[in-house]
This record gives sequence, C-alpha cells and structure tokens, in this order.
Amino acid sequence: MDEQIPHDDVVIIGAGIGGLTLALALRERGIDARILERTAELREVGAAVALSANATNLLRRFGVYADLDEVSWPQTDLIFRDGRTGSTLGRTPVGSTYRERFGADYWGVHRADLQRVLSDAVGADRIRLSHHLVDLHEEDDRVLLDLADGSQRSAGIVVGADGVRSLLRRWVVGHDDAIYSGRSGFRGIIPTEQLTALPDPRAIQFWIGPTGHLLHYAMGGQGQDVNFLAVSRTPHEWTADGWVVPATDEEKFVPFTGWHPAVTQMLGAVEVDQRWALMRRPPLPTWHRGRVVLLGDAAHALVPHHGQGANQAIEDTWALADELAGADPDDPTRAFEAFEGRRRLRTRAVQYASWQVAEVLHLPDGPLADARNAEMARTDYFEDTLAWIHGYDPVVDSGIRPGALNR
Ligand SMILES: Cc1cc2nc3c(=O)[nH]c(=O)nc-3n(C[C@H](O)[C@H](O)[C@H](O)COP(=O)(O)OP(=O)(O)OC[C@H]3O[C@@H](n4cnc5c(N)ncnc54)[C@H](O)[C@@H]3O)c2cc1C
Repeated sequence: MDEQIPHDDVVIIGAGIGGLTLALALRERGIDARILERTAELREVGAAVALSANATNLLRRFGVYADLDEVSWPQTDLIFRDGRTGSTLGRTPVGSTYRERFGADYWGVHRADLQRVLSDAVGADRIRLSHHLVDLHEEDDRVLLDLADGSQRSAGIVVGADGVRSLLRRWVVGHDDAIYSGRSGFRGIIPTEQLTALPDPRAIQFWIGPTGHLLHYAMGGQGQDVNFLAVSRTPHEWTADGWVVPATDEEKFVPFTGWHPAVTQMLGAVEVDQRWALMRRPPLPTWHRGRVVLLGDAAHALVPHHGQGANQAIEDTWALADELAGADPDDPTRAFEAFEGRRRLRTRAVQYASWQVAEVLHLPDGPLADARNAEMARTDYFEDTLAWIHGYDPVVDSGIRPGALNR
C-alpha cells in the first residue's frame, strides 16, 4: 500500500477516557486526530477510577505516567472481607510487589484529575467542546457528521468513543441492547480521615455478603480520599425510565443492615441521592461499519465489579492505533477487522468475568460461600483469578489466560 491515512483525517467522537487516550496513542503513530465532545467542559462520569497495570503501563508509554503519579494513590493491598464481621477472607499486597510483578502501579485517581492530565497532553487545540454529534452519513469516501448546532464536519475515519449509551453503536449495529444485571449501585467520595472505623484505609477492599457488596479504594496524591461503590441486589427488576434514579438514604442502608461499622460509617458519611442501574450489554455482532469503528464502552460496556471499563478502553487504544497506522485510507475495513479480532476475545472474557464476580461475591451463606472463602484465603488467589487481567500487555498482545472464559 502506498498511501497512509492523512495525518488529521481521523475524528474521535467523545473526549472520555478512551477518546483522550486514543488521541495520544494515535499521535505516537503520527496520526493527529481531532476529538468532538458534546459537553461544554470535560465532565466526570463515575467520579473516580481505579487503573490497573494493564492500563497504567500504556499510560507510561503515552508520556503521562509522571503527571498521573502525582495525583493518584497506589493501593497498598487488595483485601476481601466478610461484610458483616469484618474478618479478612483474603489479602494480596499490591504495592511494591505489584509494581515489580507487573511493571506499573495500581492507582486510585479522581476522574477529574485523570481527564485533566489526559486532555492537557492531547492539547486543547485538538479537542472541540460543545460539539454534539446527532447523526452521520457516509458519502463516497467520507463520513459526514451532523452536529446539534446544525453545523457539519467530515472525516475519513470516525472512532465512536462515545461511551456506554453510544449513538455510534446504534449506527453500527442498528439497535441498543442493555439488560439490567439485577444489581444497582450507590457511590460516594469521603475524606479518608473521616473513616475512623475503617481498617487498611489505603487499600482496595471488597466487603462482601449475600445482599450486596461494598468496594472502595483510596485515591488522590496522598490517598486523602476514599471512593466507594455499594452494590445491592435490589431492586430485582429495573422499571424506571432512566439508568440513574433518585434514591433515599434509607434505601442505601437496607441491604447493609447489621454490617460491620466500617461499612455503615462509610455509607453514612456522605449523602447519596442517586441509585445507578448496573446494566449488562450482550457482545455486539460487529464493532465497525463502513468508515466507523467503536472503542471502549461503546464497543463492550462492562458492569463495574472488576473496575475494568476504563482499563479496557485504554487497552483498546493501543490495538486500534496500531492497526490504523497501517490502514488503507481508501478502505479501512481490514484495519477495523484486525482491531476487533485483537480485542474481541479479551474484552469478552473481562466482560464475562465482571458479571460473574457479583454472583460469587453475593453467594448466600452455606457451603458454596464457605468454598469461596477458602479460595480467597489461598495465597495464590490473586495470581489465579486476577493476574490474567492485570498482567495483560496489549503491546505484546499476550492474549487471555487459557480457561479464563470458564471461570
Ligand atoms: C459508578 C462507576 C464506577 C466506575 N469505576 C470504574 C473503575 O474503577 N475502573 C474502570 O476501569 N472503570 C470504571 N468505570 C467504567 C468507566 O467509567 C468506563 O468504562 C469508561 O469511562 C469508558 O470510557 P469511554 O471512553 O468508552 O467512555 P466515557 O469515558 O464515558 O466517555 C464518553 C464520552 O463521549 C461523550 N459523548 C457521548 N455521546 C456523544 C455525542 N453524541 N457527541 C459527542 N460526544 C459524545 C461523553 O460526553 C463522554 O465525554 C466505572 C463506571 C461507573 C458508572
């Protein structure tokens, strides 16, 4: 192939975690993409994020590791606890041993800090805010992009990094499936010093039980804040119109009645007025159509129980940039297919594992829960169940651990 993609002919829809990181990955390949973002300023979605080595190694490669290191907290341990008694079921150090094993940190970071560091690195001149895509058409060798203000842009290649409720996903596959996972969530951020009942405040911890679980991790440059996501098995069905509905403090407490004071103190330390539906999305039949390709949540949204949505979006960026660097500008289909081929099995395995882990964490009391607890107590529990996620290196494309889909 003689021709290369013109260096500024790629338009990314969405300046979220995937879109911003993709711009950096493409720049490394000599492709200077533009990003169109619907919001007037970069908004936080989910408030905080835990970034594991499968993503932080790439962020180092893209030149933002040192800046992120200043505003992120490396978790000390990964701990599973009985939510009611507080007893430790399993503990894996994820500080220096994790860094030595995987080559980078396991960070907790405010999403606003992450987006600021990424967008500063991309450069304001490459990000167009208040550019809300409402429709698109293919015409000859271009994609025409209709924006909410009535203006139009065009591009040779369009990347849909427009998140979990993606417009481009609907354009690519023609439908929009989201299935309620049977779990809903409450979330909040609290200064660490207020959590006087919390053991190991600078670790990432799961407090588990039959009615739900509480996941939290420390974040900020000094580990000064704790972000939590409390997941409840109620309601059983989601009948509300939206994915986020008003919630009362009482609803938040009910699944965790009688749980350890660290849990109830954390839930009570902040007013939580929203309940989030945690939605599953079945794998898509394809991730591309014509000159449009999907990335991140648009291609493979996850339930958040492994904290991998942003990490998988970041992993995607390496493979897509790698394939686009060699793409035929007249027909990018082969590059899109190669990208999807590199990412489909991996993201599906993580998607499946993220859904399945909630079933495991919420087992009713009895022999199965006892067996799970015995598993968690094993010193190689992390190695056997999570290292295939954290230790994945998208650059060498090491693939998923054999058997991961069956766990
Ligand atoms: C409560 C919660 C906690 C989470 N915790 C974690 C965690 O700890 N670790 C982790 O890895 N993941 C976590 N996730 C998941 C993570 O937030 C997502 O997987 C990740 O943000 C996906 O990145 P993305 O770039 O695909 O989409 P997003 O980051 O959602 O970005 C999409 C962007 O597209 C823009 N956009 C949308 N439509 C249009 C349009 N039509 N025109 C222009 N712009 C548009 C949006 O405004 C947004 O800026 C969590 C999610 C939630 C809800």
